[in-house]
Amino acid sequence: MTHILIVEDEERIASFLTKGLSGAGYHVTWAASGAEALALARAETVDLVILDLGLADMDGLTVLGRLRDAGRTVPVIVLTARTSVTDTVASLEGGADDYMTKPFRFAELLARVKLRLRPLGAADGGGCQRMGCAPGTVLAIGPVHLDLATRRALVDGTEVSLSAREFALAETLMRRPGQIFSREQLLSLVWGYDHDPGSNVVDVYLSYLRKKLGAERIETVRGLGFRWRS
Ligand code: CA
Repeated sequence: MTHILIVEDEERIASFLTKGLSGAGYHVTWAASGAEALALARAETVDLVILDLGLADMDGLTVLGRLRDAGRTVPVIVLTARTSVTDTVASLEGGADDYMTKPFRFAELLARVKLRLRPLGAADGGGCQRMGCAPGTVLAIGPVHLDLATRRALVDGTEVSLSAREFALAETLMRRPGQIFSREQLLSLVWGYDHDPGSNVVDVYLSYLRKKLGAERIETVRGLGFRWRS
């Protein structure tokens, strides 16, 4: 059974999350402090972490940093009352996979949990294995391989340097090849906060990715959005 660790010092929110996620079929463990979270994450098999930043004993970002320093690549969704861009950026750069602010809608959180837990595409040997990718952490479509553990990208076996944001954008598209994502969806999934809807940041990053991974891989669907060519 898929195991989700909730790190949250407010019992009311933890209980709400536990009920909702258990109802959705997940095994849920609650840690009320950062220290407890680190002990549980080390001792148990955790498939995903939902992490509050404002904990009583330590900052959630410290918990995140210690998990990542210990080599844990488990997906982490930050769920916090902090809404500043600085906190969002600090979380994502600290290795969080997604960021949601409170108050939140449970349906949206559940959708993001499912997205993060989605089974990866068949990891294939090829270039990635030669580069020492860990099995099961590789998202591979055609010649493009993303190693989710080491955050490295390969095209035809050659490593391509991607920024954290470029990697996240490629990962989002490649997890659902063929599916059309609107600009707003990509903003929400990759940037994770309310970006200025008039901003062209998505287009800018897509052009970076096309240059680095191959222009033909990402298709623009007029009036609807973008998709990874399957
Ligand atoms: Ca809190």
